[in-house]
Amino acid sequence: MKVITDEKCTGYAQPGHPERPARITKTLEKLRAQTELPIAWGKPAAFDEALLLRAHTGEHLARLEKPEDFDADSPFFPGIGAHARASVGAALEALKAARAGETVFSLMRPPGHHATRTRAMGFCYLNNIASAVLEALATGAKRVAVYDFDVHHGNGTEAILLDKTGASFFSIHQHPCYPGTGTRNVGDNCFNYPVPPQTPRGEYRHVLASAVEHLQKVNPDLVAVSAGFDAYAHDPLAQETLEAEDYYWLGQQFRSLGIPVFSLLEGGYSDDLPQLIFAYLRGLEGK
Ligand SMILES: [Zn+2]
Repeated sequence: MKVITDEKCTGYAQPGHPERPARITKTLEKLRAQTELPIAWGKPAAFDEALLLRAHTGEHLARLEKPEDFDADSPFFPGIGAHARASVGAALEALKAARAGETVFSLMRPPGHHATRTRAMGFCYLNNIASAVLEALATGAKRVAVYDFDVHHGNGTEAILLDKTGASFFSIHQHPCYPGTGTRNVGDNCFNYPVPPQTPRGEYRHVLASAVEHLQKVNPDLVAVSAGFDAYAHDPLAQETLEAEDYYWLGQQFRSLGIPVFSLLEGGYSDDLPQLIFAYLRGLEGK
């Protein structure tokens, strides 16, 4: 199991904000303390700035340097542009590892799936997964599928990948919930599975399984996973019911696809996040 991370990603914070450095530091403590799952550690890749312009406008990249909050959820922080680029770099390193046959997870912040082509929102500044998918398509991948199991709709990823040849997007999320989108399929490649709040675990898992089956039908040669752990029963930002065992099961599902898969941390705000990530990694690794 390879984990891509950089402790510099804990270098920004707003008191009381749920997307906080402890999400990473506590997970690192957990992963370093355990011996069940041997981990090889990797760092974010360096990349050319032009790569970001596949997913974002130049105006958006300039806006990241302007010291004004982006919205009520997404404050400006000094150096946030560099932090967001490091998350993209980690996604690219994860892509590379997956292509080399490794099981891989990017443990970074900020998350990315709400960031659109033109806008930071929902704790996200640059879209890590869309940037990695567009890089994969530009460098030989034919069909790349994104599976987004964060409890919030991956609106930014959808907007960037909509009708993009070779890309497909599957999002399973609570509705109604932030950001309010994802109620129906859009274009010919974006498939949404809205789930009502407090859906019983077994039913939620059934929806997750349906989306995995649907994804297999597009016959991807590569799968990118937006791994958010906020559909967890005790997450403070949503009202769903999943348990650690369900994240283990999700990891197993991706392992059993038998094709390269890379996963990036998106949301997940409960104090149990380290256990949820560990369960997912065990499933991915088949342990
Ligand atoms: Zn989320």
